[in-house]
Amino acid sequence: MQKFFLALTLLFGIVACTRNAITGRNQLTLVSEQQMEQLSLTQYKQFLSENKVVSASKDNAEMVQRVGSRIAKAITEYYKQKGLTNNIADYKWEFNLVESKEVNAWCMPGGKVVVYTGLLPITQNEDALAIVLGHEITHAVAGHGRERMSQALLAQGVQVAGNVALGSDTKTVNIFNSIYGPTAQLGVLLPNSRNQELEADHYGLIFAAIAGYNPEEAIPFWTRMMNLSKSDGQTPTFLSDHPSDASRIEKLKQLMPEALTYYKPANK
Ligand SMILES: [Zn+2]
Repeated sequence: MQKFFLALTLLFGIVACTRNAITGRNQLTLVSEQQMEQLSLTQYKQFLSENKVVSASKDNAEMVQRVGSRIAKAITEYYKQKGLTNNIADYKWEFNLVESKEVNAWCMPGGKVVVYTGLLPITQNEDALAIVLGHEITHAVAGHGRERMSQALLAQGVQVAGNVALGSDTKTVNIFNSIYGPTAQLGVLLPNSRNQELEADHYGLIFAAIAGYNPEEAIPFWTRMMNLSKSDGQTPTFLSDHPSDASRIEKLKQLMPEALTYYKPANK
């Protein structure tokens, strides 16, 4: 029965593909962007209620707000130029710094961004923070969360009927949490695909550059990440999802000339 169901879902899955407006890549879409945003909002609020949010008046929280807002503005400009404003019309951006030793950051669909204080010793400066936020926000606006959610639903044989709210279905919520990891146990996180990582690196650099941050800071940042994973026996959450190795850094160097064409240093 399970197999039959999976085959049916697969058949449905082949039909349920959408071409991403920014990347041009076809993505499996078994859930709508609205369903993703609704699920995000519920999980995001729960996460904030269970974690210590650093007061917005503190320097580092202010920095996260500042860098995040600039990246969001850059993305809005970029989408406007491409005539794609509708794609992010529902986004209500929020940027939070959360007290945690974890090296981690994420952006949920709808523009809910969280940075963990444990990331800041690795980013070390605003440009590198912009690299991380550019990357994470790209995962959201390029529909990667929705795509991973769809792939996981398919793999686990969970059928979603129409455009219904998903927040009350435990299995669906667990899959969502295994993508964003706010409450997931380490080890059950579903990794991004290589395609998604490459897209997030590519557009993340461009968005950081438009926002006035130096994209070249990506190289020393990812090098610090790589060294961290070597020196520390434990893999930080961010790295379990974002393997940093020589091939990523090589690829970033190849993407750099294009990103630099967008770069006008901001007055900091
Ligand atoms: Zn990523």
